[in-house]
Amino acid sequence: MTFKLSKQFRFEASHQLPHHDGKCARLHGHSWVGWAHAEGTAIRRDGPKQGMVVDYGDMGSAIKEMVERHLDHWHLNTSLGMESPTSELVAGWCLEWLRRKAPSINWTGVTIEETCTSRCELHDPPTGIMPAGNIL
Ligand SMILES: [Zn+2]
Repeated sequence: MTFKLSKQFRFEASHQLPHHDGKCARLHGHSWVGWAHAEGTAIRRDGPKQGMVVDYGDMGSAIKEMVERHLDHWHLNTSLGMESPTSELVAGWCLEWLRRKAPSINWTGVTIEETCTSRCELHDPPTGIMPAGNIL
């Protein structure tokens, strides 16, 4: 039995995809919506987290720091150190960041909604495929 938990986050940010052959090559912004996903199987039997697999509050603390330090009201090309921060690469960056910041949580994926009709779901990539500093 596996429990899957998700925590939503939102941020306003600009980005630019310089190699794109359409309008995304221009500097523009979005009201981004993200979801951080975690999983677990063991329900705690006692203590303040009794009945929980993952505390939404613990997920939220890590996410809040990530959003404030790197995402909200930032230019993602600069704040994430990427030449072309697509939804796919932003999702990968977020998953790696959360895993490093809060390793006790079993983070399994990140969903990034760039617009109301476009989103990227990243599910549990093997560690090392997309390290935060190596996405360029
Ligand atoms: Zn865009």
